[in-house]
Amino acid sequence: MDIIIGGIVLLIVSILILSMPKGYKCSKCGTRTQKIQSTKTIDLTKQKKDGSNDRRYKDKYYDRVTIECKKCKNVFEAVKIKKEKDAAEWHKEGDELADKIAKHMRDKAKKNPEYAKSMKEVQKFIDEE
Ligand SMILES: [Zn+2]
Repeated sequence: MDIIIGGIVLLIVSILILSMPKGYKCSKCGTRTQKIQSTKTIDLTKQKKDGSNDRRYKDKYYDRVTIECKKCKNVFEAVKIKKEKDAAEWHKEGDELADKIAKHMRDKAKKNPEYAKSMKEVQKFIDEE
């Protein structure tokens, strides 16, 4: 039965990846917009007397972005999401994960004919979708 569970897990993971929040949430209507109008870096780095950045504080800055909501045209500011991944990256990770799971399934199917049989059932289920 664990092939079925594997299939369900894969499905949930895919849904999660595809429904990851993208962009910046509008303060008025809640719509998320990805397109950044402008970016402004707020530098919190402490400067030494000679004006150069003190290296001990080199990471103390952040980016503020201005966004225009794609739905209601409300203009708002937000702190830039640093580790925002673009859709292509999410898809790539999803694909890699799917490959790993598929490989695991194939390896298991080679050793276990019962497993191979149930795998075909799942494939049938996916194909009919
Ligand atoms: Zn809006």
